[in-house]
Amino acid sequence: MKTQLEVACKLYNTLLHAEQEEYERNKHTMNKTELRQLALDLRKQNPEFQALHSQVAQQVAERFYEARQRFFDGVANKPKKKKPHRYLSLVYPQSGWKLSNTRDAGQGKNKKKKARLYLSKIGFFTLIIHRVFPESQVSQVCVKLYPSGRIHVIFLVEEPETQEHSSEEGEPGKALGVDLGIARLATLSDGRFLENPKPLERSLERIRTIQRTLSRKRFLSKNWFKAKTRLAKQHEHVRDFRRDLFFKLGFLLAQEYDLLVLEDLDTEGLIQKGVTRTRRMRLYDSSFSELRRCLEWVFQKQAKTVLAVSACNTSRECFLCGRINQSLTLEDRVFHCPHCGFTLDRDLNASLVLLKRAGWVPPAVACGASPNTSPTLPRVKKEEAWWGDEAGSSRLQAGVAHIGSGQIQP
Ligand SMILES: [Zn+2]
Repeated sequence: MKTQLEVACKLYNTLLHAEQEEYERNKHTMNKTELRQLALDLRKQNPEFQALHSQVAQQVAERFYEARQRFFDGVANKPKKKKPHRYLSLVYPQSGWKLSNTRDAGQGKNKKKKARLYLSKIGFFTLIIHRVFPESQVSQVCVKLYPSGRIHVIFLVEEPETQEHSSEEGEPGKALGVDLGIARLATLSDGRFLENPKPLERSLERIRTIQRTLSRKRFLSKNWFKAKTRLAKQHEHVRDFRRDLFFKLGFLLAQEYDLLVLEDLDTEGLIQKGVTRTRRMRLYDSSFSELRRCLEWVFQKQAKTVLAVSACNTSRECFLCGRINQSLTLEDRVFHCPHCGFTLDRDLNASLVLLKRAGWVPPAVACGASPNTSPTLPRVKKEEAWWGDEAGSSRLQAGVAHIGSGQIQP
C-alpha cells in the first residue's frame, strides 16, 4: 500500500506539472475529462504508474481537478506539489474492490463483525466492520493510511436525504443555547455544563517525552521511524478522544432538543489574539470548530437544526436588560450587570444571551419576575462531575453535571 501511495503521489505531481506546462504553452485549462484521459495515457506510457488500478489513477486526476476547482472558486490556495509522506489515501470509485466472507467473530463483549476486502493491485485486508451498510449501494471505497500505521477503509453509501419533518408538525421545538469556553467546554442554557477535559494538555508530558526521544535519533533511521510512529499514535489518541466526546455530546443533546444555538466563533482569530501561550494552547485544545462540525453533523442527521448567531459581546451582554457590561474581564467568572443588577454565572448568562439572539423569549422575563440569583453557582460534587479523578471513563450520562438547573428565582 505504501508503494501504491508513493506512485499515486508521483502521478498527482506529474499531472500538476503537465497542467502547468499546458497552460503556459497554450493558455488552455484542462477540464476533468482531459485530466482523466491524461492520467490514463501517463499510466499507459509509464510502467511505474501501472502499479495503480486504472480507476484509482483516474481518481487521482479527479482529486487534482477538485483541488484546482477550489482554487478557482477562491476557497483554497493554488494546488501545490504533494509530499509522499502526506499523500495517504486511495479511492476505488466503482470497481477494483470486492467484499467477501462477512462473518460474526468473537463472543460476548468482544463480538465483532468481520469481513474480507480485496483491493485490486494491493491485496486482501481483514476488516472489522463498525457499521452495517447496504453493500449494493456502495459508490466508492476509500482506503486511508494514518501516520501511526492504522488503516481505515471508508465505504461511501448513497442514501436518499432525510426528510425535514420537524417543520411540518407545527409543534414548537425545544431550543438550547450553548456557550463554548476554556474552563467549561460547553455551558448549556438549561444550567448544565461539560467540564473541559483538555485532552492535549493531559497528554502533553508524554508527547514531550517522545518528542525528545525523536530528536535524539538519527534522522530517517529505523529507530527514528519507530519514535515517529509512537508520536503519531499519541496525537491520534488525543484526536480520537475529542471526536468521541463531541459525538457523544451531540447525540445526547439531539435526544433532548430540536434546535441548538451556537456562537459563530472565529477560532483562528481567537487563538492569534490569545495573550499567553497557555491560553493559546487551551483554545487550540478545545477545538471549537471541530465541536461545531460534529454537533452540526449529528443534528443534521436527525433533521434538526444548528443555528450560529453572532458571537459579538455574548459574554458582556446582560441577558435581562440587553445592555453591555464593558468592565467584564476574562477572569470574571460571575456576570454582574451594572445597569439592572442582574447577577448570574458568566457562561450561563452567555448561553442565555445566545438563545435570546436566536429569537427565544425567556418565560421568566415574560412573567415580569425580577431575578436575583445568587452570584455563585452551586458547586458540583466530585462524583457528579463528569471529569473525575479516574481518567478515560466515558460516562457521559452522569457527565453533563447539573448545577441547580440555574433557575431564575423571583
Ligand atoms: Zn442588565
